[in-house]
Amino acid sequence: MWAAVVVLLVVGGVVFSLFVGSRVARGEAARSLVAFDLSSAQVASTLQLAIEQQNDLLVNAGAYIAGNPTGSQSELTGWANSVQLLTRYPQVHSLVVIAYVPLADLPAFTAQVTAPGETAAGTEFQVVPPGSRPFYCLATGGLSRETRTRPLGVDFCADPGGNALLAARDSGVGSYEPITAEGITGLGIESPIYSGGTVPGTVELRRAAFLGWVGILSDPSMLMDRALQGNPGMAVSMRYHLDGSDVTFSAGHAPLGARSRVADLATGWTVSTAGATVSSSVFDVPGALQLMIAGLTLSVLLGAFVWVLGTGRQRARRLVEKRTGQLRHQALHDALTGLPNRVLLGDRLTQLLARARRDGTAAAVLFLDLDDFKNVNDTLGHQAGDRLLIAVAARLASTLREVDTIARMGGDEFVVLIDGASVHASPELVAQRLLDVMGQPFDLGAPLLPLTVNLSIGIATGDKASADELLRDADTALYQAKGAGKNRYATFDPQMQSVLSRHTELEFDLRSALTEHQYHLVYQPIYNLTDLSMVAVEALLRWDHPTMGVLMPEEFIPILEQSGQIHDVGRWVLQEACAQAATWRSRGDDLDISVNVSARQLDQDSLIDDIAQALQTSGLPADALIIEVTETALMHNVDDTAQRLRAVKTLGVRIAVDDFGTGYSSLAYLRKFPVDSLKIDRMFTNAITTSPESKALIGTLVQLGKDLGLSTLAEGVETVDEMDVLRAANVDQGQGFLMAHPLDPTTLENQLLIPTRASTPTPPLPGGHPAR
Ligand code: C2E
Ligand code: CA
Ligand code: CA
Repeated sequence: MWAAVVVLLVVGGVVFSLFVGSRVARGEAARSLVAFDLSSAQVASTLQLAIEQQNDLLVNAGAYIAGNPTGSQSELTGWANSVQLLTRYPQVHSLVVIAYVPLADLPAFTAQVTAPGETAAGTEFQVVPPGSRPFYCLATGGLSRETRTRPLGVDFCADPGGNALLAARDSGVGSYEPITAEGITGLGIESPIYSGGTVPGTVELRRAAFLGWVGILSDPSMLMDRALQGNPGMAVSMRYHLDGSDVTFSAGHAPLGARSRVADLATGWTVSTAGATVSSSVFDVPGALQLMIAGLTLSVLLGAFVWVLGTGRQRARRLVEKRTGQLRHQALHDALTGLPNRVLLGDRLTQLLARARRDGTAAAVLFLDLDDFKNVNDTLGHQAGDRLLIAVAARLASTLREVDTIARMGGDEFVVLIDGASVHASPELVAQRLLDVMGQPFDLGAPLLPLTVNLSIGIATGDKASADELLRDADTALYQAKGAGKNRYATFDPQMQSVLSRHTELEFDLRSALTEHQYHLVYQPIYNLTDLSMVAVEALLRWDHPTMGVLMPEEFIPILEQSGQIHDVGRWVLQEACAQAATWRSRGDDLDISVNVSARQLDQDSLIDDIAQALQTSGLPADALIIEVTETALMHNVDDTAQRLRAVKTLGVRIAVDDFGTGYSSLAYLRKFPVDSLKIDRMFTNAITTSPESKALIGTLVQLGKDLGLSTLAEGVETVDEMDVLRAANVDQGQGFLMAHPLDPTTLENQLLIPTRASTPTPPLPGGHPAR
């Protein structure tokens, strides 16, 4: 459209410019023609005036001669002076009065013209050209600009021009003809003069009354030059054409292709002027050409301007559209992975549900959550976490088909939509395939080692009223999968809803658990793997729920951590465990006691006071207490945690790293903390008998411990084979169902401590409690 507008503008501008240019040129041409016509008229009238003057002169001279037929030279000079011949008639070169002299009269004529006073003394009279002829036409008087006198003895009838003189005498009509005399070529006018001043009616009468001729030699070019003055570039020519005379004189130079005008002057005379006029072509009129060029330039510029302006707006609009597109994309996509975000997912899910309802197919939603992703962030940093998320997104995308939507809900949560119409495999098969591909280690590039991340998946299918409902079901199923041990999928079933409500219920019930004395501790023995003697116990928390029975820590400790109650409960655990250990020690059972401390407890300095307080109240020696901190808790707030643990350490308490091997911590990190022992996670213990890699890893961890001067403990020992491998690998201690389950104090005392107790007397417990 803009191109059309610009073309229209430019074409319009060009046409307009051409029109204006030619209008101006035509105007200029017309003006120059008028000017030329004016000049021509001026030249013509100047010449006409001169001719009229000359004719007057001729008439005047004729009248003078008629009045003085025998006038002498001096008389003629007097007359010429009286009419100011040489000044008033600048074109007149000479004037001569000619008499017809028959041969017989020549002596008398000679005597007359050579009479004293007429000619300078001693002047010889001679006819020119010499010779004897029947008659002569000789000057009786005259005046020339050069000689100021007559041409003495010149026979004007000696040449063919003489016939013209005789013809004029007989006809009474003067002749005009070009004459060259005295060095100039001019117009010769010879006019017959008759006595009485008029021309008689017949030839006989004319011959009878004939007195002579008056001849004037004039120089028309001089006249014309004068007339042309002030009119440069013009040429003029005069023509006399009458009664057998035909003479033309020209002056000036007309340019090529000049225009000409012909005008009639006096009788027989025409004048033609020629001069340059401006043609009506634009190219011949500078002003018009400039105007046209300016107009053309302007219209092209205007076109260009409009083009830039028009397309500029268009460009701006395209830019805005692009930017809007980007913003829309940003609004609907996750910035990190580029996957659709929660908003777009909601939209797609609504569409999917509508389609499924219409087609009678099943839509499925998979809710994905990385297991322990927080550990990656805490230990390797957020950048590594981001890189992992990007890699996970890419792997998910490459595993699924184009038609399936993958969205990132935020954090480490992803959602996959499976279009029922296009699914042949069940959502469970898809989930299993995802679990399988995620099991492969991710290589995030140096300096990070390849790491394995597991995934838990919640599946929801079916016809739900809203996208939110379906998502919530998948989330519930995910929660279930996590609870069931992670790295697995679970499909939603309505019963699961009760799990969620159970969570809410527990949250409520936990508020009064401590004051209602619903907590108790069980103790799991820890053995020296060299001699299999029991060296310590780990205190493990249990909750006696008023209606649900005994609940395990994994079910309620996360809730305590969320609510912050973990600080109070943790303080109670420390006091209770220390008191119990002190009781046993006072009875001679030289057991150490291991107490778990959560990450939240490490966030506050009060932990140090709580430990000191528990030791003081129970009277337990500090070196009998071991604080267990998980590897991921260590990495949480490295500097503060290290500082608090050093404070704990100065109390004399030992520190163990719990669940070691699950947190990706490096040797460099471990060195920051005052750690005494490593508790190798159950995961590794269970794997040593099945995979050679895990066996090698145990060896590595033991070596790591030795390098750092730390003792090692294997958790979760369940089989004799495991025990054998651990002992062969020189792991210092072991803990697990193979040796003993967590036991309540009484059971522990009865089953494991009795033999020792039997040989040693039991000292009274601090605080006066009876030993149980
Ligand atoms: P943990 O510190 O790793 O505790 C060891 C867990 O492994 C205990 O589970 C124990 O029953 C279990 N276990 C011991 N031997 C075996 C075995 O051979 N096979 C298997 N499969 N499991 C074994 P429990 O008592 O359910 O405790 C779970 C977790 O709850 C503990 O893991 C610990 O992190 C946390 N926890 C327990 N008591 C406390 C506490 O007082 N305070 C804090 N902050 N956390 C606690
Ligand atoms: Ca522990
Ligand atoms: Ca553990």
